[in-house]
Amino acid sequence: MTTQRIKEGDSVLPGERLGVIEEYLPGEGTFQDEDDVIYASITGIVHIDMKERKISVEATTRTPVYPKRNDVVLGEIQHVTKKSAIVNIFQIEDTPCPVTFSGYLFIKNTAGGYVEQMRDLFAPGDLIIARVQQQADGLARLSTVGTRFGVIKASCSRCGEPLHLQGRRLECTECGNYEQRKLAKNYGKLSKAEPVEEEPPIEEGI
Ligand SMILES: [Zn+2]
Repeated sequence: MTTQRIKEGDSVLPGERLGVIEEYLPGEGTFQDEDDVIYASITGIVHIDMKERKISVEATTRTPVYPKRNDVVLGEIQHVTKKSAIVNIFQIEDTPCPVTFSGYLFIKNTAGGYVEQMRDLFAPGDLIIARVQQQADGLARLSTVGTRFGVIKASCSRCGEPLHLQGRRLECTECGNYEQRKLAKNYGKLSKAEPVEEEPPIEEGI
């Protein structure tokens, strides 16, 4: 394999050889092996600090995506109180989030009319599609007003089996339970990313 000398501004992949300890100090986004060879630990752009003789890699992937106003997001209902719900947002528009964001859903922004209590519309574990009304300090205030928005997947609160749409109600074919939600028009048609089951990946740099 012919190795071209790595220069400032080069794009590198994890594991790509950057140089040796005699040439550089290993900086962020790099690691060295026992033979004192420096490699990239992340995908990114090479930066060489000539003064400090330090080589580092600036990440080009996993740039955090924040939910913005009017973004359509997918999330999971985490917690329901009388007047609000906390949502873990795991997808913004078509982009799965590298980490989940917290969203708040207030009762007045759920169905566009009077609602007695949040539990009539949502339950923990429901997957919802919502619109971002406002975003401040990393917290998204959500709305499910409109036919497009609401629950797209829910499970039976009695037995945990998926609920199927029967008219405007949800039926559990397993135990015969009926439940009510604020339904999105494409309930049950979720084909995109599911919530990430495992822990979000931690920073790869050493
Ligand atoms: Zn059931």
